[in-house]
Formats: sequence, structure tokens, C-alpha cells
Amino acid sequence: MINATEVLSRPIIVFSRNYMPINRINLKRAVTLLLTGKAEPVDFIDGGDDIAVHAPSFVLFVPPHIRLTVTHQERRGWKIPAVTRREVLRRDHHTCQYCGSTRQLTIDHVIPRSKGGKHTWDNVVTACERCNSRKGDRLPQQMGMHLRTPPKTPMHPAVMFAEEFWQHQNTKRQQTASIDDDEVATAAE
Ligand SMILES: [Zn+2]
Repeated sequence: MINATEVLSRPIIVFSRNYMPINRINLKRAVTLLLTGKAEPVDFIDGGDDIAVHAPSFVLFVPPHIRLTVTHQERRGWKIPAVTRREVLRRDHHTCQYCGSTRQLTIDHVIPRSKGGKHTWDNVVTACERCNSRKGDRLPQQMGMHLRTPPKTPMHPAVMFAEEFWQHQNTKRQQTASIDDDEVATAAE
């Protein structure tokens, strides 16, 4: 059994009218959208149980995924941020991309500027002072240093949300698949 607090804080995923996962909202907001007809249940992916919400005169079943029936206004005006220290740290989750440290962070040009490296999203990473001075004016390979994640241009927040959602779904499906395999193996013994 799960308790009321868990239920209330369980996120509901909202899909746009054209089935793009766009946001994560709380139960109260989901109930409002369903009751006003601005959203409907989605059941093309398995994602857990419905939550039964009891009102005096009815019971509403809120599924883990809902789809807007109204056209969703894309957040306009977003553009790729400039390559600033603040934005690079944010993209890299305030973590040194060489050793994982979260302290004394600086910005490193993977291909040093002295060797023609540009100040662009794909050549700039967060590095702690220690890694940065160790690397100095060289390429990471020359120092046996490896990037944890290849540097990329930040994505539109909505696109990023969708990508993370589907990645998470895939992981869940793989986990389910491996459980099934085990069960088959046990049954076959
Ligand atoms: Zn480091």
C-alpha cells in the first residue's frame, strides 16, 4: 500500500495533442485538466496504476499519463544560450567533465584555443581547477584524460524532456524484459 502523501506527490506525465511528452504535473493539476475536459487518459504505454480520486458524488481515475485535448502553446522565444560560464556549468550539472568533482569549477576548451579550438558548445566543458591545470595547453588524449559526456549544444527544454522520458521508458521496458527472461528460465528448469 502507498500512502496519501506518495499519491499526491506522484507525478503525472502530460502529452501534447500530438503525443509528445511535454511536462510532469501533480495530481491536483491533472484532476483539473481531466475534469475540465482539457485532457484525457492515455493508455498506449504501461506506466503503473490509476489513482482513484474520491469526490462526494463520483470517483475519478487518474492514469499516470494524460494527453491534452487542447492545443498546447509551445514556449516561444527559446533560443540556444550563449556559451557563458554560467550556461556551460548548468549544462554539465556543475560537475567536472573529467573527474566528476563539483568544486572549484572552471571552463576548459577541449581543443585549446592556442591550437585553434573554438569557443563553441561542442568544444567547451566544465572542468575543476585541478583537471584544468593538469591538462594545460594539451588535448585530453595526450594526458590520458577522458570526457564523461561529449559536449553538446543545449536542447530546447521540451525536446530534452521528451528525450529523457522516452529513454526512461526504454530502461523500464528492458528491466521488465529481463525479469520475464528470468521467469521463463525458472519455469523451464
Ligand atoms: Zn576534475
